[in-house]
Amino acid sequence: MAKILIVEDNALNIKLFCDLLAAHGHQPEAVTDSRNALDKARELEPDLVITDIQLPHVSGLDLIRMIRRDDKLAQVPIMAVTAYSARGDEERIRAAGAQAYVSKPISVMRFAQTVDELLAGSTQENPTGEPRESWARQSDLGSGPTGAAGEGA
Ligand code: MN
Repeated sequence: MAKILIVEDNALNIKLFCDLLAAHGHQPEAVTDSRNALDKARELEPDLVITDIQLPHVSGLDLIRMIRRDDKLAQVPIMAVTAYSARGDEERIRAAGAQAYVSKPISVMRFAQTVDELLAGSTQENPTGEPRESWARQSDLGSGPTGAAGEGA
């Protein structure tokens, strides 16, 4: 059972996603106002974030970037859901830091399968073959200031 945060402004989609995830034994939680999404994610520490791209206030792309920049959330898998399936969109979504992309109207099977894959940790796979900046951050956090000097004497 996974905690899954859904960021979506459309009530019907929220119901659909929540029902699907609950049917798969997961614990979905929805946020409708994207301005609250980052705080909610920090509080919930979800195993997966599913976000709409077309959101009022904070766009899905901006939200993805904010999550990737957040120390606490940088590693959480993100699945984007969007009504527009233009090629450029997918590239921008992936470049922002989402691992997966599903277009609306969603295929229930593809939705469930993508959720399973992301939760199974297949996030390391990189189908585009492009370097993924967001994962590089990890190494930046590493050792911090050196040495435990000053402790002596
Ligand atoms: Mn929307």
